[in-house]
Amino acid sequence: MPLIAQNLEKVRVRLAAACRASGRLPDSVRLIAVGKTFPPAALAQALAAGQRDFGENYVQEALPKIGALPQGSRGSRGSPIWHFIGPVQSNKTRGIAENFDWVHSVEREKIAQRLSDFRPSELPPLNVCVQVNISGEASKSGAAPHEAGALCHAVAALPRLKLRGLMAIPAPGAKEHSRSAYRRLRKLFEEIRRAWPALQMDALSAGMSDDLEDAVAEGSTMVRVGTAIFGTRQK
Ligand SMILES: *Cc1c(COP(=O)(O)O)cnc(C)c1O
Repeated sequence: MPLIAQNLEKVRVRLAAACRASGRLPDSVRLIAVGKTFPPAALAQALAAGQRDFGENYVQEALPKIGALPQGSRGSRGSPIWHFIGPVQSNKTRGIAENFDWVHSVEREKIAQRLSDFRPSELPPLNVCVQVNISGEASKSGAAPHEAGALCHAVAALPRLKLRGLMAIPAPGAKEHSRSAYRRLRKLFEEIRRAWPALQMDALSAGMSDDLEDAVAEGSTMVRVGTAIFGTRQK
């Protein structure tokens, strides 16, 4: 079996164990394979091994990969689903809106507006998560937690976007810190859902190679895993 297929299998086993440990159904967490810096051939191996959801951070890098992977008719069984997970620059909103199925990293209303404006009418609405700066780092992306509810509202009101939930990347550091960051994210998610049930948020994008167990224990519904599937990234 190719290495990427073996790695994928290991990650699936970890995910299933994490779900079992917190009494959740094994298919309640979606695995997103994060392919930044890896070539289309690596992604194709993952696709051949049954992986469907792919995450990318940079538009210029992603577009050739999206073109290289077999597309099928959009959304058909076996064709890849593309998630944009990197910082969204204003001048990249068109490329994202035209080529991706999800954006996990919306942190400003102006960006949401542009994504909606550029979303082609023949495609379904773009799925959106609002990114929250859950560790409060000055340097990190994401809306401040107290602004997240208002931003969710703004996204939900845009015609070509579909609000799905929240995303966060905890500050690097000790594992107990990421667990408590994921707990704060979950609390915020539940607060917003309780305050505005009409928003119908169903997605919590949290967890990476090193901490997916903690994220699943705190209610994650989408983990974004790069290194554990494709290997260590070259700088
Ligand atoms: C790179 C990246 C990941 C994957 O990180 P790994 O530690 O390699 O699993 C997840 N989320 C985001 C936003 C990333 O940029």
